[in-house]
Amino acid sequence: MDLTITGTGTVQTSRVVVMLPYPLEGHINPMLQLANILHSKGFSITVLHTRFNAPNPTNHPHFNFIPIPGVAGDDLPVSDTGNLIRLMHVLNDECLGPVRDCLERLLSEDAGVACFVTDAQWFAVQKVADGLKVPRVVYWTSSVSAFLSFSAVPLLRHMGCFRRFSDEEKKSEALVTGLEPLKVRDLSKFLTSDPEGASKLMELMVQGMKPAQAVIWNTFKELEELQLVNLHRDFPNRHFLIGPFHKYFPALSTSLLTRDENCISWLDKQAPKSVLYVSFGSLAGVEESQFLEIAWGLANSKQPFLWVVRPGSVKGSEWLEPLPDGFLERIAEGRGYIVKWAPQRKILAHHSIGGFWTHSGWNSTLESVCEGVPMICSPSFGDQLPNARNVSDVWKIGVELRNGFERGEIESVIKRVMVDEDGLEMKDRIMNLKEKANLCLKKGGSSYSSLEDLVKFILSC
Ligand code: UDP
Repeated sequence: MDLTITGTGTVQTSRVVVMLPYPLEGHINPMLQLANILHSKGFSITVLHTRFNAPNPTNHPHFNFIPIPGVAGDDLPVSDTGNLIRLMHVLNDECLGPVRDCLERLLSEDAGVACFVTDAQWFAVQKVADGLKVPRVVYWTSSVSAFLSFSAVPLLRHMGCFRRFSDEEKKSEALVTGLEPLKVRDLSKFLTSDPEGASKLMELMVQGMKPAQAVIWNTFKELEELQLVNLHRDFPNRHFLIGPFHKYFPALSTSLLTRDENCISWLDKQAPKSVLYVSFGSLAGVEESQFLEIAWGLANSKQPFLWVVRPGSVKGSEWLEPLPDGFLERIAEGRGYIVKWAPQRKILAHHSIGGFWTHSGWNSTLESVCEGVPMICSPSFGDQLPNARNVSDVWKIGVELRNGFERGEIESVIKRVMVDEDGLEMKDRIMNLKEKANLCLKKGGSSYSSLEDLVKFILSC
């Protein structure tokens, strides 16, 4: 093994980590953060990527980028879960051969490949890694809790959950046995409008992870301690919990979309903890009627807000056309600000932010925890459901919107989180988690130590 220890304690190694990110915003960002973490530990990084949603190599001049030749995917708009499911099949089918060719070439060049780190959504590439005898390490982009919910899909099937749910069940507060803290009313969204298609993929991801040599998690031990017992019992892989990734290099820019930085000077003018930040991530969309309820709920709450409306995220519209007459003029008077895409981490860290209305994607949830910002949760599908359930029922650092998008409820929940006593208690609890997130990355902390173990593990591959 070719390595030296520098004066700073970093291992300089000629070993290469080959990484295969999944080409969606919420996946590429943390994978590139992980790449930077491993690079800071002395590894060389080679990124295999699709042409579809390709990362910008000029932002990462220290990495070697290799486009996977001849792979489609760019003709599939990812605006609904049906297309997300199709995209995952198309990519896994079409990429297998080209990924094998790329990896084989790197091996034949004797490039010193130590291991192959792939997003769990590349479930089919285990075959490639096995065929070429390269250790595969899976990177799971969501929480441990979400992973365990995915792994319980056979149980849900056995329980007869693959059917239309009655209106009563869609309101049921009963816990799902074996899948706590999920409630019966979470199930229809968790399984999406295509339960067969979604659950098949969940199973493929879980099965695809089992033979992997190790799994890297963007979470930290203190946050998901309860779930870890079940994880270690049911999945005896090596597990490395080294998150939150984005805290290692706070200034690192990995976003595929252009952010509107002008909103920061608007935030500067707002009172401390007064602004609600609203964003539903890079994929979730809403119907026009829901969009109007959101707009009226925000307006009626009388609370300042910064709202990300992604072009195309309102079904049937380009951007803000469905807003009621006079709405934009009213918010132009100072109480609201709308952008197409925002510098989210900077916003959450801003002193004027008092709450985050989110779709409960894992990156957003973790970023909010790290800045101590209580949440309002509107999960749409899949892992967002267990994430939101943890936020509202387990960690008690946020509130869920129980009735979808309904202006009266939106107004009262905003008040609850931003103004009421209840919100202050959530704030205390999330500040406690923020402190734990900071500590886990310090020398001797859980993620710090786990990263040291991961480095040793990769060097031993
Ligand atoms: N994000 C951003 N600007 C925005 C909205 C989101 O930079 O206006 C980033 C956010 O910081 C997070 C990612 O996009 O890192 C969204 O990931 P998440 O897992 O929360 O949701 P997804 O988009 O995958 O549904």
